[in-house]
Amino acid sequence: METTRTLRDVSCADDYDPDSLPVDRARTLIREFLSPVSAVERVHIRAALDRVLADDVESPLDVPGHDNSAMDGWAVRFADLDSQAETNLRRIGESFAGKPFAGELHAGDAVRIFTGAVMPRGADTVVMQERARETPQGVAIAPGAVTKAGQNRRFAGEDLKRGSVVFRKGQPVRPAELGMLASLGIGEVNVYRRLRVAFFSTGDELRSVGQPLAAGEIYDSNRYTLHGMLKRLNCEMLDMGVVPDVPELLEKAFASAAASADVVITSGGVSVGEADYVKGLLDRLGEVLFWKIAMKPGRPLAYGRIGGAHFFGLPGNPVSVMVTFYEFVRDALLVLQGRADVAPVPMFKARLAVPLRKMPGRTEFQRAVLTPGDVGGWQVRTTGDQGSGILSSMSRANCFVVLPADTGNLDAGAEVDVQWLEGLI
Ligand code: AMP
Ligand code: MG
Repeated sequence: METTRTLRDVSCADDYDPDSLPVDRARTLIREFLSPVSAVERVHIRAALDRVLADDVESPLDVPGHDNSAMDGWAVRFADLDSQAETNLRRIGESFAGKPFAGELHAGDAVRIFTGAVMPRGADTVVMQERARETPQGVAIAPGAVTKAGQNRRFAGEDLKRGSVVFRKGQPVRPAELGMLASLGIGEVNVYRRLRVAFFSTGDELRSVGQPLAAGEIYDSNRYTLHGMLKRLNCEMLDMGVVPDVPELLEKAFASAAASADVVITSGGVSVGEADYVKGLLDRLGEVLFWKIAMKPGRPLAYGRIGGAHFFGLPGNPVSVMVTFYEFVRDALLVLQGRADVAPVPMFKARLAVPLRKMPGRTEFQRAVLTPGDVGGWQVRTTGDQGSGILSSMSRANCFVVLPADTGNLDAGAEVDVQWLEGLI
């Protein structure tokens, strides 16, 4: 769907304040400009892991294909069973998974049956083996071993009916989907092509791993966290290295990134002082809005388009890069990948194990560790120094405590919102 709203319209809206944009507002504004990739590839199901289905998938089969036993036991006719006394039945054969019983049950008959084996004709119920005792003639069933006809029997098509829609387009393919596709005998599926993401770091002070550091220089870590986060989302990555704060070099890098990728992500250069000339050159290349998000960390953020590519200009501080990625970029990339079920990282409630300091005014994402509580439930404590340059606070954390803008200091025991990061980080 082509959107008719432009970034200029956004910047003219009454409630739009680029110097203090609420987190939710930034998220919904970005959403308005995202249209998913449309190119489709046909791939083997193994290669479809972490991709997104581009078509609905219908079941070519009933699953299971036959009525079968849910457990090891005896296939019987419910009508034969005495609910008050033991019932003696004749053993007339066996049904194994993959090797069905060829005959048919009549009154007084039982067939030894195993999990997944086809229900013999004439049988309607399975008695679990623990409720039956083998006898010289066959089997004795304990009274009340089953309470209704059809017990312990799986019905053909009870999981999936032939022709029914198993997956809608936009479904991400995870291990469960791989297994289900295989269970239907489907070996190939149509998926959207992978999203191409180009990224680079900006800053005169940055050196790459492997280079010596001169006075005042630091190693570029953002490209590595970005690599990790993008890899987790199964993006095709174009790592463009470090670009110094030289307008001509930056302009070249932006132009070449936008020409070769769906999304361009940069870190650094969007804070006050540096943003001005970046702004100027991006205005020539595209349409970009610079925001100060009312959040901590991660205040400066740029979003827009450069040529045909989406652009996210993340702050330079290493923690800010990760927070803004998880809060804004992650769900935007999922939408662009064609996923139908995209939501921000989910939140749930936990209790503070220690008091927490916060100034009202901005949404804060404090790095924290969530553990089982002493009295049930979950408790959370922050990882200590919350400076936006302290990447070890991210490494020690397994969650963010998300504190709404108007919240102030909180006492131990207070209930807070928590975003679980394991699996994301
Ligand atoms: P900036 O937003 O460019 O002003 O950067 C803010 C802070 O983050 C400065 O201390 C930078 O040195 C630091 N920084 C910027 N980019 C990176 C990077 N790629 N890796 C590590 N630190 C960075
Ligand atoms: Mg910089």
